[in-house]
Amino acid sequence: MSTIVDAFERPLTSLRLSVTDRCNLRCLYCMPEAEYGWLPKSDILDFEEIVRLTRLFVSLGVRRIRLTGGEPLLRRDLPALVAQLAAIDGIEDLALTTNGVLLADQAEALRAAGLQRITVSLDTLDRATFVRLTRADELPRVCSGLDTAARVFPGFKIDTVLVRGVNDGELLALVAEARRLGAELRFIEYMDVGGATGWTGEQVVSRREILSSLTSAYGPIANADSSPSAPAARFMLANGQALGIIASTTTPFCATCDRSRLTADGMWYLCLYATAGLDVRGPLRTGASDDDIAAIVRRTWEQRRDRGAEDRLASRDRGAFVPASALKRNPHLEMHTRGG
Ligand code: SAM
Ligand code: SF4
Ligand code: SF4
Repeated sequence: MSTIVDAFERPLTSLRLSVTDRCNLRCLYCMPEAEYGWLPKSDILDFEEIVRLTRLFVSLGVRRIRLTGGEPLLRRDLPALVAQLAAIDGIEDLALTTNGVLLADQAEALRAAGLQRITVSLDTLDRATFVRLTRADELPRVCSGLDTAARVFPGFKIDTVLVRGVNDGELLALVAEARRLGAELRFIEYMDVGGATGWTGEQVVSRREILSSLTSAYGPIANADSSPSAPAARFMLANGQALGIIASTTTPFCATCDRSRLTADGMWYLCLYATAGLDVRGPLRTGASDDDIAAIVRRTWEQRRDRGAEDRLASRDRGAFVPASALKRNPHLEMHTRGG
């Protein structure tokens, strides 16, 4: 199986598959608006189409698949899709990112179907803050999902977006909770991606600040191993607990980015910040052969020059990347549509 590289020699090895644009939370850094339009149901790829496209991407070198959304656990019969993906030769890593609300009920079935790894997003341990952050009173169900994840996917990951003035005061409590759960916590810097219409630079808690808080609490921090293309830099606290920081905003890692994203309706995006994507649903539904689609995908990746987060870092007067009015016109620009 070949591996294709883009204009900067970055291989196509990781694919995020968004299985739905729907979500049961309204996180203030992702879906802060009052109303959203949704992708038309008839455009959503069925399992057969998702599996066919995944096979095709694997034939071009993709080795890691992550199911995402929206909230992927809202997709009906998700374990059946996982089982079909797990059967594809060549996938080395099959993972999923969830907000955890529905996880307690589904973790066992997902594991049995062949899901290898899970990441749960968790930003707060305080019920009132959870409601403020997500507009839903779902912390109890998320906590039950976390306990289930610790049992069914030991060593799972927890992703936390810190927003200054909202949950940054919980940094140490979240580290302690991850330790209790045997999970590896990763702090993600708040990004100005599409969807984050309320983003301001002041709200970003930077990697430097996070490390400084951790050093004050735990003493000197050592670097830990991480793979060169992994978004998180890993660190080891003096007590032996490993954690990661994804510094997408202050220290972008575009130079080694091997990730692309397929939306639930079959649009392929080469960067979180890309303003246009490639429609693969069209050719798929009008009878194109696998070879035809593979050729389009290959050509598109070979021309890829995206370095979205680096471009954003260099831009002056930085505010929200996409205004709410533009998101309304084009939901594909939303983080919850293209998958985080
Ligand atoms: N709904 C699932 C979840 O929340 O885990 C999966 C989809 S969500 C879009 C994937 C990840 O994107 C989550 O960990 C979320 O915290 C992250 N995310 C969304 N908006 C973000 C932003 N503005 N900055 C940084 N991370 C963001
Ligand atoms: Fe929050 Fe994920 Fe839903 Fe976005 S898609 S609102 S990050 S739970
Ligand atoms: Fe990759 Fe784009 Fe993110 Fe940079 S901004 S790491 S190119 S997805």
